[in-house]
Amino acid sequence: MQPIHIIGGGLAGSEAAWQIANRGVPVVLHEMRPDQTTAAHKTGGLAELVCSNSFRSDDRDHNAVGLLHEEMRRLGSLVMRAGDANQVPAGGALAVDRDGFSQAVTAALASHPLVEINRGEIAALPPPSWDSVIVATGPLTSAPLAGEIRAVSGEDALAFFDAIAPIVHRDSIDMSVAWFQSRYDNAGPGGTGADYINCPLDRAQYEVFLDALLVGDCVAFHQWETATPYFDGCLPIEVMAGRGRETLRFGPMKPVGLTDPHRPGVKPHAVVQLRQDNRLGTLFNMVGFQTKLKHAEQVRIFRTIPGLERAEFARLGGLHRNTFLNSPKLLDGTLRLKAMPRLRFAGQITGCEGYVESAAIGLLAGRFAAAERRGEIPDVPPPTTAHGALLAHITGGHVETIDAGPRSFQPMNVNFGLFPPLAKSPNRGADGERLRGAPKAMAKRQALTSRALLDLDAWAARGTATEAAQAASLVPASEGASLPEPHPR
Ligand SMILES: Cc1cc2nc3c(=O)[nH]c(=O)nc-3n(C[C@H](O)[C@H](O)[C@H](O)COP(=O)(O)OP(=O)(O)OC[C@H]3O[C@@H](n4cnc5c(N)ncnc54)[C@H](O)[C@@H]3O)c2cc1C
Repeated sequence: MQPIHIIGGGLAGSEAAWQIANRGVPVVLHEMRPDQTTAAHKTGGLAELVCSNSFRSDDRDHNAVGLLHEEMRRLGSLVMRAGDANQVPAGGALAVDRDGFSQAVTAALASHPLVEINRGEIAALPPPSWDSVIVATGPLTSAPLAGEIRAVSGEDALAFFDAIAPIVHRDSIDMSVAWFQSRYDNAGPGGTGADYINCPLDRAQYEVFLDALLVGDCVAFHQWETATPYFDGCLPIEVMAGRGRETLRFGPMKPVGLTDPHRPGVKPHAVVQLRQDNRLGTLFNMVGFQTKLKHAEQVRIFRTIPGLERAEFARLGGLHRNTFLNSPKLLDGTLRLKAMPRLRFAGQITGCEGYVESAAIGLLAGRFAAAERRGEIPDVPPPTTAHGALLAHITGGHVETIDAGPRSFQPMNVNFGLFPPLAKSPNRGADGERLRGAPKAMAKRQALTSRALLDLDAWAARGTATEAAQAASLVPASEGASLPEPHPR
């Protein structure tokens, strides 16, 4: 059987390779690192996490990304298996040791008999003999390939900015000022209730810190970059600060759910949280402190935070321009480029945002490509599942604007707004009491996630039955084979 080629061994490409190989189809995974690298990657490992080490909430009942975790686990995801095996304490979030995680993904793929890993940049469109290709080159796709994709897709790729937060050596943090505690002592799935390091600021310290941020020297934009937006879920800290003097106190520096054991009677005015970054617990990253301040400015300003006066930084923050496709226009319902269906896209380049979302779209692209290779018709997941909702966002496009203006497509994390509404929202609790406010919202989320997992299991079982039926006769699909229309949004 001809192999499926994957370009890019990041979150999406690694997951796609795993899914394909586990369906009995050979894969060649092309990764340009370590020979050639990007502005954000540091190693040659597959599935390297470029910024935070968090896969975000692991609450499968009430959180859309927690639901996506659970769906991926049920679909045999390598990224989730390696993530779970390398978990570090982070309250209700699933955070991982980034090196252990990447090494686990690399080892699993390198030892799979149907996976071949080729190191080297693919600098042009793949040759016609590669009849099935997944392009998973991410937001920092190398320039020559990005140029060719732009030419074949017939329009300029879209772009936005994403930023990185600094990482601090744990032993340089003054624990006579800072303390360990998770917000509301939430132990979460793999935590202890005391997983974050907290640095408290009183009102005067907060105001001084804010003033320093607002006038801090930032890396300048190039002329051509000035019209590029930021990703709204990951604004640089100084940009957030510029939106109002209280914005940070209601955002990453909110002081709620925390008690300073050094001064139990004094409520901090603001708090900086740091989350464990490696299994050893020697590195901690500054949560929500992504920044485009110049490096010397980061050191100067962040050392004004109580507890960080002598902080040593293992990595400083930075800003990167991300590229993505206008996917609703350019891709079909199973992520193939309409203009050249032998190319399928996966990961952040399709316009999803986040490690987990990128891996989930890699998982789907891998399954679709393997099904095609096996002569099956790829089956898209129902839009009621987190996978289906995300896919519908990418291939179906962004919601209509209320003023009937032009539709815009922007990268998005998975969220409940992407799911079709419930036929009937729960309005009574288990005891028959009328639900209002937060309990009602929680019950609604629970109903959405229960529906999703039921529908996912049915979809996965359908796929397993088809795979078993097809296992004996593997027929390669031809380029441009007829495929189902994208499912309704
Ligand atoms: C600066 C920055 C910070 C981010 N921070 C976060 C964060 O904190 N949390 C979060 O959830 N998400 C974050 N993201 C978003 C995003 O989810 C990640 O970038 C994620 O890694 C995307 O997965 P991917 O597989 O699509 O791309 P990647 O993981 O980037 O993988 C793409 C791979 O393709 C390779 N490659 C590129 N071009 C070629 C080529 N021509 N030939 C061969 N190989 C090639 C690259 O070396 C890379 O290994 C951030 C993104 C950026 C750019």
